[in-house]
Amino acid sequence: MRKPKIVILGAGYGGMMTATKLQKTSAYQDAEITLVNKHNYHYQTTWLHEPAAGTLHHDRTRMRIDSVIDTNKIKFIKDGVAEIKPDEKKVILEGGELDYDYLVIGLGSEPETFGIPGVQEHAFSIRSVNSVRLIREHIEYMFASYNNEEVKNEGYLTFIVAGAGFTGIEFVGELSERVPELCKEYDIDRDKVKIYSVEAAPTALPGFDEELVNYAVNLLESRGVEFLISTPIKEVTKDGVILADGEEIKSSTVVWTTGVRGNSVIEKSGFEAMRGRVKVDKDLRAPGYEDIFIIGDCALVINDEINRPYPPTAQIAMQQAKTCANNLKQLLAGKDNLETFTPDIKGTVASLGGKEAVGLVGSKKLYGQSASMMKKVIDNRYLFLLGGMPLLLKKGKFNMF
Ligand code: FAD
Ligand code: NAD
Repeated sequence: MRKPKIVILGAGYGGMMTATKLQKTSAYQDAEITLVNKHNYHYQTTWLHEPAAGTLHHDRTRMRIDSVIDTNKIKFIKDGVAEIKPDEKKVILEGGELDYDYLVIGLGSEPETFGIPGVQEHAFSIRSVNSVRLIREHIEYMFASYNNEEVKNEGYLTFIVAGAGFTGIEFVGELSERVPELCKEYDIDRDKVKIYSVEAAPTALPGFDEELVNYAVNLLESRGVEFLISTPIKEVTKDGVILADGEEIKSSTVVWTTGVRGNSVIEKSGFEAMRGRVKVDKDLRAPGYEDIFIIGDCALVINDEINRPYPPTAQIAMQQAKTCANNLKQLLAGKDNLETFTPDIKGTVASLGGKEAVGLVGSKKLYGQSASMMKKVIDNRYLFLLGGMPLLLKKGKFNMF
């Protein structure tokens, strides 16, 4: 008898967790399961600010997919997804085509540019191993170039981080730790280097606990970060950024962290979406499609308490993967009483570089080293959930103190 085909698109938090959950049950015997990803490795998006600044090697943030997924149980295809044809139950890959009975879309996000001129052309983004390797190399090249020019270009040593949300703040934290090392290595005075965190809203980390925000801002300022608050960037050029009031800051390095939108494959495939995210049904299926689940940053789930979407996070992507895997098992068993997805938000912890972080876990506020330790516990917990003790021991963060 022909087995139903389950195709999982994207090997990020959502896709990998769905696949590992399915391979732990009899689902792989009841269905032909295929995982598709554009690289043969999985990376932890939540760690990418570190290799971007050069404080952690990028290999620490990634692992071969076949070291976690049992390819005897789940077939892995390394390819890019170009488009989904939901009405034909087909996925168009860059190098072929796949048909499915059930589809899981976990293709993650892309940087939100809000159509601001010059962002695509001139700014860097923290979104993949490839993109962060480029940032790290570029920063180092700027330091190396500075003393090689007769007429000094101060833009080489001016680093602008657009957006002081969680990604921007975590990156600025790492960068402020890395800069003193780079100054030493390239014989440059620390005073010559400028790091700007430019935020459109009236505060850094908008919406986060005020005391924790103050702690983060004071700490980063003590490391030389300059905050430009209530300061939207209206254009990025090859020479720097232009602020809403017309002022220009010259810089050869603009890192764009003003939020994310769902993968462009979603809109290209004709799904109704808000900023590339599909408002999924309670069981995580795409409205109108009983055979398609959408999870992670491509999915939009409303927090009914405040009538606003939950922010796209790994925490939610992983929880969705669990519900999605359970629901696939139900469908394979011919049952239609699917589980409702209910997010269980445990808290938020943001690293600030070195042994510093801030966090809100339940109602408890964490600062400094205890928050930093909690952040590492969270990072390690994910590795444990994904690949058990062997993966944790291989890739975990144990420099707690
Ligand atoms: P991802 O984990 O991004 O995975 C998407 C996968 O799809 C990738 O493997 C990618 O290669 C693949 N892919 C993309 N396009 C294609 C294509 N066309 N074809 C084939 N494959 C494709 N959230 C938290 O909860 N806690 C944190 O501490 C936290 N820290 C963060 C720090 C940073 C620097 C950033 C950028 C984000 C952070 N987030 C955090 C958010 C979190 O990383 C995302 O919400 C999470 O990664 C979403 O999971 P996902 O499975 O949807 O996508
Ligand atoms: P975000 O939406 O959280 O923050 C983007 C920031 O950019 C906002 O503060 C916004 O006001 C600002 N901004 C927008 N346009 C601007 C402009 N033109 N000029 C200057 N500033 C501008 O997005 P993010 O930081 O990219 O994070 C993406 C998602 O990942 C979020 O859901 C976030 O919660 C999650 N994340 C979580 C963690 C963590 O839990 N530690 C870390 C990183 C990211």
